[in-house]
Amino acid sequence: MPDGVHPPRECGWIEVICGSMFSGKSEELIRRLRRAVIARQKVQAFKPATDDRYSEDHIVSHDKNRVAGVAVVTPADILSQVEQDTQVVGIDEAQFFDLSLVEVCEELANRGLRVVVAGLDQDYLGRPFEPIPQLLAVAESITKTMAVCVRCGAPANRSQRLVPSRERVLVGAEAAYEPRCRKCFRPWEAPYQEESCDTDA
Ligand SMILES: [Zn+2]
Repeated sequence: MPDGVHPPRECGWIEVICGSMFSGKSEELIRRLRRAVIARQKVQAFKPATDDRYSEDHIVSHDKNRVAGVAVVTPADILSQVEQDTQVVGIDEAQFFDLSLVEVCEELANRGLRVVVAGLDQDYLGRPFEPIPQLLAVAESITKTMAVCVRCGAPANRSQRLVPSRERVLVGAEAAYEPRCRKCFRPWEAPYQEESCDTDA
């Protein structure tokens, strides 16, 4: 949500912040949650329990900004932990949750809460990465964050995988990726180990 645009009072809504690795998604999420705190709103933040980089009880960006955040296993855990008087809910690393996250965000927004969700919009092959595509469809506000292509310096929205794996999710593996632009993105050049990979895709 750009500065100057404010969610309507008395009405919930969903904001999605999405982009590639290293595009500043968590930074933007933290910035918005902090502004809500300054505005004296009650804020709760959640992250998937699988994302244990840096901190167990905080949402942390690459530049070490942080806000208090609770690690949960499933989206249903978010629903059960949101308190009665909470006004803003932040959710980081949405790509580690399953599709039921969409219903949970809808439920919270329908109750009148402002829901801010950050996550990867594409996987390592450049494919839409659930549940972000579904959230984009129902969100009131969408922000695409861009990284900088390490090859040419252009704005980058792809995550180039640098390690031999065909797992869709590599948890806490920032070193396994670099941001690339559309032109420099080479998903097929990832150093796959054919013998140790399954063949879903
Ligand atoms: Zn490039």
